[in-house]
Amino acid sequence: MSHALNIAAANVNAPRIDESTPHALPSLAGMGRAQLREAALACGVEERKAKMRANQLFGWIYHYGSTSFDEMTNIDKETRARLAAHYTLDRPRILERLVSTDGTRKYLIELAPGVECETVFIPDVARSGALCVSSQVGCTLNCTFCHTGTQALVRNLTAAEIVAQVMIARDDLAEWPSSNDDRKVTNIVFMGMGEPLYNLDHVSDSIDTISDPEGMAIGRRRITVSTSGVVPKIAELGTRTNTMLAISLHATNDALRDELVPLNKKYPLKALMDAIRAYPGLNNSRRITFEYVMLKGVNDSLAEARALVKLLKGVPAKINLIPFNPWPNSPYECSDWPQIVAFADLVNKAGYASPIRTPRGRDIFAACGQLRSESKKVKASELKKQRLAEQAAAGQ
Ligand code: SAH
Ligand code: SF4
Repeated sequence: MSHALNIAAANVNAPRIDESTPHALPSLAGMGRAQLREAALACGVEERKAKMRANQLFGWIYHYGSTSFDEMTNIDKETRARLAAHYTLDRPRILERLVSTDGTRKYLIELAPGVECETVFIPDVARSGALCVSSQVGCTLNCTFCHTGTQALVRNLTAAEIVAQVMIARDDLAEWPSSNDDRKVTNIVFMGMGEPLYNLDHVSDSIDTISDPEGMAIGRRRITVSTSGVVPKIAELGTRTNTMLAISLHATNDALRDELVPLNKKYPLKALMDAIRAYPGLNNSRRITFEYVMLKGVNDSLAEARALVKLLKGVPAKINLIPFNPWPNSPYECSDWPQIVAFADLVNKAGYASPIRTPRGRDIFAACGQLRSESKKVKASELKKQRLAEQAAAGQ
């Protein structure tokens, strides 16, 4: 029996877009400083004041979590009125909000009509809590153990859509202003839907906003980006974002990794390990996290544990062993618990921290690799048709 409590309709603090309005105004929530400056200019703020106004807006939106322009008391009334006539501070709509018996929260978020992503808040890891954000709707890669991999890529998320996921969680957890001492969302992990390094520009912009000390101020060392191994983008991730790196490894030889993470055929282990060794800022205080999903009879033998130790020799690393989380018709089984423990012990004795990740939010289907939305890829020709129909309806 599931104890999940679906209270989607209740207690969602975020403002909602009025669906009766055919042309909703764009929202400033999620925009970075440069976009806020453009927005200020676009609604008549003088060029010489635009930067100041953008900074003020930035503070209200990301420090205070403002949902109304009225409270922005350091901005004159007339400018506030103009801003309100052109923009909102709405967050994307929460379609479903599920709370697990273990406190994990999962949000199904509507980014645009028919475009949905999932975001998961996991309490009590690291100092306090991690928010697992999505960078794409669907994924182009087809890792055989991952539910998201069975969904075609719908599209990359914009930076604003990534930032909005953090805002939605903070609205729900009532943790504005950002200076609040007992913050719950202390860490961000890009381990939701999608491959972040295939959307690096937007991921990088979103990290600039999320980590900005005058806003939500989640430090770059508390932000982890997980990749399945997009080798040519790994160094760029480091230089542009200065965040922590996680690698979804899952196998220690090319034959098996080719099967589990098909991207390995393009970027095999040797190339991946070279890129990891060259990751900017790598040292013992900035270890790389390796994720290793435990698949019964597939990659969980002690010989593989030894091969893992050998492969990672000389790399400051932590190995997260993830018990496989099943999904409907998934082709694997999770390793038996004693086997996971024996694997962890061997790796640990070789000098690597090797925590076994406790599955969280299983009752609400929120664990690693279980995220998948119903959004479907729509052909460009279909989109055009839809747009023309909307324009025709609006003109009537
Ligand atoms: N695309 C990125 C980030 C998202 S996946 C990546 O692959 O790294 C986040 C983590 O969950 C990855 O390590 C992924 O391999 C793992 N994962 C995927 N499906 C899983 C499953 N069914 N059970 C356990 N972990 C899974
Ligand atoms: Fe995509 Fe990551 Fe899932 Fe692989 S594990 S299919 S890269 S989301």
